[in-house]
Amino acid sequence: MQNQNLFHEIKQLKAEMIETLMELIRIPAIGPENGGDGEHRKAEKLTQILEAAGFDKIERYDAGDSRVSSGKRPNIIAYYHGETDANRLWIVTHMDVVPPGEESLWTVTKPFEPLLKDSRVYGRGSEDNGQSLVASLFAIKALKRLGMRPKRTVALAFVADEEQGSTMGIQHLIDKGLFGKDDLIVVPDSGNEDGSFIEIAEKSVLWFRIRTVGKQVHASLPNKGLNAHRVGMQVALALDKMLHEKYSAKDDHFDVPESTFEPTKKDKNVDAVNIIPGEDITYFDCRILPNYNVDEVLAEITSVLAEFEKQTGATIKLEVLQKQVAPEPRDGNSEIVVLLKTAIKEDRGLDAEVGGIGGGTCAAFFRKIGIPAVVWSTMDEVAHQPNEYAKVENMVNDAKLFALLAII
Ligand SMILES: [Zn+2]
Repeated sequence: MQNQNLFHEIKQLKAEMIETLMELIRIPAIGPENGGDGEHRKAEKLTQILEAAGFDKIERYDAGDSRVSSGKRPNIIAYYHGETDANRLWIVTHMDVVPPGEESLWTVTKPFEPLLKDSRVYGRGSEDNGQSLVASLFAIKALKRLGMRPKRTVALAFVADEEQGSTMGIQHLIDKGLFGKDDLIVVPDSGNEDGSFIEIAEKSVLWFRIRTVGKQVHASLPNKGLNAHRVGMQVALALDKMLHEKYSAKDDHFDVPESTFEPTKKDKNVDAVNIIPGEDITYFDCRILPNYNVDEVLAEITSVLAEFEKQTGATIKLEVLQKQVAPEPRDGNSEIVVLLKTAIKEDRGLDAEVGGIGGGTCAAFFRKIGIPAVVWSTMDEVAHQPNEYAKVENMVNDAKLFALLAII
């Protein structure tokens, strides 16, 4: 009966949830690495919304960052007290978003002009991570409106800097010592279409850049120069081949069962067609199964570069941009896994499975300090794509599930 009231209340809040999601999408929160000004404005808006929702306590833990105009990267925690303050339930979502990418590919609406269409909210950050952020907020708002208190205190963390390494986001909060060993942590930042997958492990994340320096000359006189673009392409292809061949193991617990090695970004080179570039910069995004040693992977990369330097006479340098080594996969029976499975079974009649994904969520930082965080939500996985959307149904149903998680 109590649950029915709660679910009814959340349904009543649907229109407000949509409005809140759209309001937040309108405020771009892009990190300075991607040419943005951070999360400050979005955090201000979110704070107003949280204050109106009636949380017991709202705290701010800002990390200093001189690259953004406010000088800080905001992190917000909103508490709703339960019968006990031990083993708190945390729901961690991030405020920052990735850049829109190629704007002409946004055919449904502009990235920061959210649109409700076919029961989906379109816009950058709608699914990643707005949907879950709003769902967690309204789960608590519904409890509050019904005067219901959770079993354990619920803390919602809204963090910065997730898309670029989290040092000023979740890592900043962890450094403040806010989390206890027995706290229950949910990171709803990935998931599958029906919410039947609970992620308990991730791959190691490695981002690097290869800078190849040759000699710039007129394109009609290649013999006088050294084409860094050509060498850069050859190096990238050689790395691509070596990495896929050498690190080809599969682990079916992971969605994408093998390690992935993807050449992604390219820095701009010369302005004219008739100039042979003297410099070439290529980036790789790698997600590596936890049984491989990331330092060994890096050593292999370095030896390929050395080989090409010898062959071509170019200078080829490796720069590591991000290296997050995944901890050993955890067992699938931690308290939060059991609790979440129970809630999913009760609410949706599904037997959820546990496994791993490509990694790079806030959960990795908890696992590193021995707290078994889970990643769970219901989504189509359209994050970082043009025409990103969140299904309204998923947002509402996940809010129900978060509320249930708080009271069972
Ligand atoms: Zn995300």
